[in-house]
Amino acid sequence: MEGKTVFIGRFQPLHQGHKQVIEDHKDSEENFAVVIGSADKKREEENPLSSDEREEILKACFPELKVLHLEDEGKGDEGNMRWIENLKGLGAKKVISQNDLVKKLVSEDEELELVEQDLYDPEIYSGTEVRRRIRSGEEWRYLVPGCCEEKIADLVEEIRDSGIDYDFKPGWKRENAYHDTFEK
Ligand code: NAP
Repeated sequence: MEGKTVFIGRFQPLHQGHKQVIEDHKDSEENFAVVIGSADKKREEENPLSSDEREEILKACFPELKVLHLEDEGKGDEGNMRWIENLKGLGAKKVISQNDLVKKLVSEDEELELVEQDLYDPEIYSGTEVRRRIRSGEEWRYLVPGCCEEKIADLVEEIRDSGIDYDFKPGWKRENAYHDTFEK
């Protein structure tokens, strides 16, 4: 079987930038799949959603999409080597990623090919920014695709409460708005 073209990301959560990348490739690449990275992580500040929840959000927009899950391995050369072998074990041949380490590991591997991909307004569309906005009670809906907005809305509490030790009750108040951007 032909190798797969995979788009790797953590999708915490899916946003307009990710959606655009999927749309760029899902029909032109015969064997396209999304790989959810850090699939073993959930309810942490950087990884609030489980990989099943992330898949549900992706499927709300792309019901036919092939979605694969990849757990993290240890840091350092040995972990990275295991991780890249596991990625190949999923059938990956061409890889789309915006993560510098992933790009380096893929370029160094003779069996894999790195696919160049533009970022879509990374200053605006960012998982970190969606999480920050949800946690500080600011508007976040315009950053995510309409097709999965309600799915994400159902998970707002999980995103808000994961791995954060608040010294205030989350919700809209001006003093909460920039709580993890600026020192108060
Ligand atoms: P990341 O470093 O969190 O993301 C890379 C950056 O690119 C993020 O800022 C991401 O933003 C951004 N981005 C991705 N697509 C975008 C788009 N279309 N438009 C705008 N910005 C975009 O890592 P990742 O690429 O999401 O995930 C890599 C995965 O590989 C992780 O799960 C990592 O743990 C795993 N990994 C594991 C090992 C190991 O276990 N040894 C080694 C290498 C990699 P968003 O936050 O908005 O998505």
